[in-house]
Amino acid sequence: MKVFKFGGASINSIERIQNVARIIQSFSGEKLLIIISAMGKTTNGLEKVAEAFFAGDKEMALQLFHQIKEEHVKVLAQLNPAATNILSDLFTEVEWLLHDKPLREYDYYYDQIVCCGELLSTAIVSNYLNSIAVTNSWVDVRDIFRTDDNFREAGIDWQFTEQKVQQDIVPLFENTDIVITQGFVGATDENESTTLGREGSDYTAAIFANMLNAESQTIWKDVEGVMNADPKLFPDAQFIAALSYTEVIEMAYYGAQVIHPKTIKPLQNKSIPLHVRCFLKPALPGTIIGNEPVRNLPPIIVLKSNQVLMQFNSKDFSFVEDMLVSKLHGLFVEIKIRPNLSQNGAISLYCSFDNWPEKIEKLALAASELFDVQVEKDIVLLTVRHYTDAVVAELTANKTELLSQRTRETLQVLLKDK
Ligand code: ASP
Ligand code: MG
Repeated sequence: MKVFKFGGASINSIERIQNVARIIQSFSGEKLLIIISAMGKTTNGLEKVAEAFFAGDKEMALQLFHQIKEEHVKVLAQLNPAATNILSDLFTEVEWLLHDKPLREYDYYYDQIVCCGELLSTAIVSNYLNSIAVTNSWVDVRDIFRTDDNFREAGIDWQFTEQKVQQDIVPLFENTDIVITQGFVGATDENESTTLGREGSDYTAAIFANMLNAESQTIWKDVEGVMNADPKLFPDAQFIAALSYTEVIEMAYYGAQVIHPKTIKPLQNKSIPLHVRCFLKPALPGTIIGNEPVRNLPPIIVLKSNQVLMQFNSKDFSFVEDMLVSKLHGLFVEIKIRPNLSQNGAISLYCSFDNWPEKIEKLALAASELFDVQVEKDIVLLTVRHYTDAVVAELTANKTELLSQRTRETLQVLLKDK
């Protein structure tokens, strides 16, 4: 059994969906569990629907949703003119909710609305594949993936989910070679939809791979494989043929967009190799990620922009010690915000965060009971694994360094434009 994950860009046009179908056909005779993301930028579009709904602008929410609906109906009709209205229940689920008034928290509504992107895309691809005799079963992953109700960042109930996978997914493969389902989505024990965090489909695929003891997982992307930097920012980024789990978990942790950071653990725990391959050039081998340490890697560069540097200064010149620090960490947990970098001094503590404006404001306010708080915006966090002085000099030229940290392998600097 192999687990595949196709990202949103792999199905953002009719031609690309047909291309995905060809890739799947080329594995005929193998058992495949396939996770497919929402089409193109649908998730971003659904986020706008959720925002409009929560802001009380029902008309706008319905109108934006209508556009998304039309696009999906059109794609389905083009791929399979004989298709019936297989999407209508999925549309109705969201439309019902949009007619209500928001009474609960935003994150709850976000998940109820945003989850439909993957349900729609997978329903379309599954229907199309069946119509061209690539027989497959479609599964609503909300019947399998049980989570807590930490909306937008839901935690998996591992035991329940594993039992469901054994009970409901394994037997499906007795009658079919291909099972198609969604990533990123789950449900609570009260049948509320949840999501696992943006880009969470890689993670879902890894959990399935783990629970099904898959021989491998493949993430199909629009790049040749893993590169040593984002090719959109660094045109001469280099392709890397092999990486260790450790290297990838570090890269993802520091913010490399290659793979969702939680993806590695379920694979590493069962030594399941992860392939990153290009859906545009399926003949290429891509990157293979596994247990073997890989030496002589090029410097790996990760840029995380839109950072906020917060400085927590002791109010009365007392040391910033355990008690205060643990109170501050309590606030991070409460507000659900995690520093990307932190550094202690005698009477101050520095942390950089992703700029989620409401969370930063909340944190600044709550922390001001304990500290004098300073906030600085528009900062970039540069991380270089396997750094060399030359690479660092080039990347930091003409920038002000606000703070830096280095271990033997990793250098991190907070930079601001001069
Ligand atoms: N569609 C979701 C997103 O764009 C999940 C994913 O693709 O992994 O974040
Ligand atoms: Mg994606």
